[in-house]
Amino acid sequence: MNKPSITRRQTLSVMAGAFLWPMGAAGTRGLHIESRPLFGSTAEVMIRHASIGATSADPMRRVVKELERLNRDWNAWKPGVLVELNQALLQGRSGAVAPDLLALIRLARTLEARSGGLFNAGIGGLVSAWGFHADVLRPDAGLVPGEPVPWRGRAPSLSRLRVEAGGRLSSTDPRVQLDLGAIAKGWAIDRALDELARQGQPHAVVNLGGNLAVQGDAGGRPWQIGVRDPLGGGVVATVSTRSREAVVTSGSYERYRQIAGRRVSHIVDPRSGCPAEGLASVTVLHPSAAVADAAATALMVAGPRQWPFVAARMGVRQVLALHADGRGTMTSAMASRLRLRESRWTSQLKVIA
Ligand code: ADP
Ligand code: MG
Repeated sequence: MNKPSITRRQTLSVMAGAFLWPMGAAGTRGLHIESRPLFGSTAEVMIRHASIGATSADPMRRVVKELERLNRDWNAWKPGVLVELNQALLQGRSGAVAPDLLALIRLARTLEARSGGLFNAGIGGLVSAWGFHADVLRPDAGLVPGEPVPWRGRAPSLSRLRVEAGGRLSSTDPRVQLDLGAIAKGWAIDRALDELARQGQPHAVVNLGGNLAVQGDAGGRPWQIGVRDPLGGGVVATVSTRSREAVVTSGSYERYRQIAGRRVSHIVDPRSGCPAEGLASVTVLHPSAAVADAAATALMVAGPRQWPFVAARMGVRQVLALHADGRGTMTSAMASRLRLRESRWTSQLKVIA
């Protein structure tokens, strides 16, 4: 049996959002866990061997290497593939784009349209102006609430991108600056699980900073996933997953700038050009982690009243929204999947869609 590379206690302590519910000693038998600091948080890949003694070393290495590559290539502010492409678009030139990046951009464009523009991976310029293109966020680096915002009401859109012969990408609007922060983790999770299945590892969990997806099972029973309280350390609910399923959370409580006692969230509303307010977190269950990731961000932007309409437009049925004021709302499809744990939210949750 492969020894887990980190202990279970460490695994559970590092991430907000969703996490693998402790399975007890018997459940961790045959579980190969690798963990790395990636995507601005912790990446974990967990593979359960179908039989004790089987080895998952090669598939694990391959998947971790690929996650490292995506983390490097698709960063919006560190020198690399995406920064070079953005530079080209800004200067009105075309840029080279690999097939997997092109496929992700196409999906992002579709989801932008479905979200009514609330999820928009072309607003890198705005996200940067608000000071969020940095590993460490500072109160004094970036716009402050009340200041004039560039492109108010006129956010650039991925619909302005053109694919040229030879797979090069250009834009009819030089303001389009790609920022894949709200979808790349989901996409990477999906690809990692696909690759593991191809490599003969059908039972696995991939967790990128509290966004995770599972496939297969935890040894004859479903993987159990916990959803953390965004306003404290506790657990709001657990989910008994289906065979291939993502549990993705977008929140305003982890990456924010603290300005004059106010939290300024890293999720920007493309309509106003200002950081989204009103929701502490949105959790989405969906077969595709990429769709869940983009949708969770769009619903954070939509806010406590509008999110059900945007969810319906995006075809996302299982949603839990925890409001910044301590109330919470969810769809009935989500309510039927959650097992609520005793927390500040228990008496505050209402089914509204
Ligand atoms: P997390 O990365 O914490 O899981 P999200 O998936 O919501 O959270 O992604 C937030 C990131 O996406 C931001 O840091 C920024 O890079 C980018 N972003 C911010 N606002 C939007 C938006 N309205 N649409 C698409 N991407 C956004
Ligand atoms: Mg997202």
